[in-house]
Amino acid sequence: MAGTFKSVFDASLITAEFQNAQINAHFIPLIWRYVLQNPNCQWEDIPSLPASAYPLLRSKFKPSTSTLHSVIHSTDQVTTKLLIKLQNGAFVEAVIMRYDTRLGKYNGKARPGGPRSTLCISSQVGCKMGCKFCATGSMGFKNNLSTGEILEQLVHASHLSTIRNVVFMGMGEPLNNYSALVEAIRVMTASPFQLSPRKITVSTVGIIHAIKKLQHDIPNLNLAVSLHAPVQDIRCQIMPAARAFPLDRLMDALAEYQKKCQQKIFIEYIMLDGVNDEEQHAHKLGKLLETFQVVVNLIPFNPIGDLSHFRTSQEDKVTRFQKILREVYNIRTTVRKQMGQDISGACGQLVVDLPNKRFNSGDLVTDIEDLKM
Ligand code: SF4
Repeated sequence: MAGTFKSVFDASLITAEFQNAQINAHFIPLIWRYVLQNPNCQWEDIPSLPASAYPLLRSKFKPSTSTLHSVIHSTDQVTTKLLIKLQNGAFVEAVIMRYDTRLGKYNGKARPGGPRSTLCISSQVGCKMGCKFCATGSMGFKNNLSTGEILEQLVHASHLSTIRNVVFMGMGEPLNNYSALVEAIRVMTASPFQLSPRKITVSTVGIIHAIKKLQHDIPNLNLAVSLHAPVQDIRCQIMPAARAFPLDRLMDALAEYQKKCQQKIFIEYIMLDGVNDEEQHAHKLGKLLETFQVVVNLIPFNPIGDLSHFRTSQEDKVTRFQKILREVYNIRTTVRKQMGQDISGACGQLVVDLPNKRFNSGDLVTDIEDLKM
C-alpha cells in the first residue's frame, strides 16, 4: 500500500533503518544528492551502495512521497506557486520568489550578486492558530508534515530554481510541528543542500517555550515573529492563539533569545485598516521594540475574499506608520512588496483564491536578504 512508504528525506527514520541493517549512515546524504539530481530515479539506478541497501530502500522508502501537482507562474514570472500533493491526498503549497539583485539598489549603488530565489515552505496542512486575517487559518488544522514532506518542497522547488533562502512562512505554524521542523532544518544545512542557517527564517506567532528551545537546538537561524499588534488585547482579537502567549512574556522570551544569539529579530506586522494601523499603534510598537535589535516588516493586508472582515490600510497610513518607527524610534522598518498576488501566493493567501489587487508603495522589500543590514 502506498501509504506505508516513507520519504527518503525522513532523516531519523532512514538513519534508524540503516543502523538496524548495519549500513553506514554516510551513504544517506549520497542517496539524497542522487535523488535531488534525479527526481524520477529508481533505487537500482543509484550506483555504489552496499547490496543490502537496495532491498531496504525498495521495501520502506520512496525517493518522493509527494508529487508536484501543478506549477503556476505569476504574470510577471517573479513568483511561482507549487501545489504539492501529499501521500495522504492532502495538498500543500510552496512559493518561489525570484529576485535579481542587479535590479535593486543598496545604499544608492547597484547591488552585487545576481538572480536568486527564496522558497516559502509550508510546515502543516492547515493551521490551528486561527489568525483572523489568514486564509490558511480559516481551513483549520489537518495534519503536521513529516520531515520528508517539508524537505520534498525544497527538492521540488530546486528543479525549478536555485534556492538560496528558505522561509517557513507558508501554511502552518512551524513551531507547532517542532521536531519535524528542527530535523528538516538540520538536513537543509548539511550535505547535499548546504544552506546556511542564516539563510533560513522561521516565522512564528510567538510560541514562547518553543522559541526558547529553538535557539538552543539550531543557533544562528533567523527568527521572524508575527506580532501584528503592540498590545495584548488587539493581538488576541486578530490572533486568538495569542491568548496563550501574553505579550509581556513573549517580549521577555525575545529579549532572552536576542541576548543569546545577538542577531536581529524580524517583526512581522500586518496592516489592518482601523485595527492596528493608527499613529498611536506605531508609537506603542516603537516603545515596545526600542530596546531590541529588530527589523519591522509592515505587510499590506491581502484581502481574502468573502472570509475577510478586514480592509487594506491606506497607503499614506502605512507610510506614516513606517515614518514614526523610523524617525521617532530609529527602528529599521520596511514595507513588504506584494509578490504573486495574482496566483494567491502572497502571505496569508495560501489555499484560497483571491481578487487580483496590487499595492503601491515606495521603499518596498522584495526579498528577505534585503532585510539584512
Ligand atoms: S498567519 Fe500563520 S499562524 Fe496564523 S493562522 Fe495563518 S498560517 Fe497559522
